[in-house]
Amino acid sequence: MFSFESFDIKLDTEFIGRNFVFTEEADSTNEMLLERGNKYTINGTVFYTEKQLKGRGRKNRPWYSAKELNLTFSILLTNKKYITENPVLLNFAASLAIGNALENLYQLKVELKWPNDVLINGKKICGILTESTSEGNKIDRLVIGLGINVNQTMFQGSYSIPPTSVRLEINENVEREKLFAEVLNNIEELLRVMIESPEIILKDWKQRCNMIGDKISITEGEEVKYGIFEDVDENGFLLLRDNNDRINKIHYGDVSLR
Ligand code: ATP
Repeated sequence: MFSFESFDIKLDTEFIGRNFVFTEEADSTNEMLLERGNKYTINGTVFYTEKQLKGRGRKNRPWYSAKELNLTFSILLTNKKYITENPVLLNFAASLAIGNALENLYQLKVELKWPNDVLINGKKICGILTESTSEGNKIDRLVIGLGINVNQTMFQGSYSIPPTSVRLEINENVEREKLFAEVLNNIEELLRVMIESPEIILKDWKQRCNMIGDKISITEGEEVKYGIFEDVDENGFLLLRDNNDRINKIHYGDVSLR
C-alpha cells in the first residue's frame, strides 16, 4: 500500500506535488490532466495512480505497469514560466531528474536516450511523455507523464528495448514513497535550472547520452535516415550527419544504433 504520509514527509518542493491526486485506478494519468474542461488547474498538480489501465508512450504505444508496484503519474504545468513550445528540453530535464534520483538513492548510473528514455545497462527503467493542450494557438497546459519501473520483476510481452526495474537492478525491495519524493524534488529543481540556464540541462543531458558520436538510424513512420549522431542543438533537436556530410535536424523519431 502506498503511504501518502511517508511520501509527503520527504517531499521538499514548493509547487510540484503540493496538490496531489491519488487514485487506485485511472486510464491514463496524462489524459486526466489534459482532457478538456477537467477540474485541475493548479500548477504542479500531480495525478498519481496505482494502476494505469491505458498508459501510453509516444505514438500511442502502450506503457504497461503492474498494479501497486511502480510509480505512474503525471505533473501539470500551467504557469507560463514553464510553458514551452519545445517539449524536448522538458523531457531532458525530467530524464536527468530521474537519473539524479536513482543515483542519489541507489548509486545507479543511468544512460539517457534521445529524446525521452532513461536506461540502465541498455534496459529501460522509465518512460516519459510530455504533452500539451492549446487555447487558440497558445499552449495553456503542459503535462509530463512518467512511468518508473520500481518493484516489478516480471515483464511479459515483447519490447523493442528490454525493460528493467530498480528492484531488478539493486536486488532489494524499494520504498516507492521515498523514491517518488526524491524524483519530484529533483524535477522541481531541474525545471528551475531549465528556465535559468537551459545550457546546463543540455550539457548534463549530453554527458549522459552515450550515443553521441555513434552511427545511428532514425525511423519516423516509413522513413529511415542513417548517419552519425553529431550532437543536439540548443533546443534539444538531434543533429544527424549524413553520408554527404550534411547536418540534418531531427525533431522526432526512434533512434537505434547501427
Ligand atoms: P521505444 O521505447 O520503443 O524507443 P518510445 O521512446 O516512444 O519507444 P515510450 O513512449 O517511452 O517509448 O513508451 C512506449 C514503449 O515503451 C512501448 O513501445 C513499449 O515497448 C515500452 N514499454 C511499455 N511498458 C514498459 C515498461 N514498463 N518498461 C519498459 N518499457 C515499456
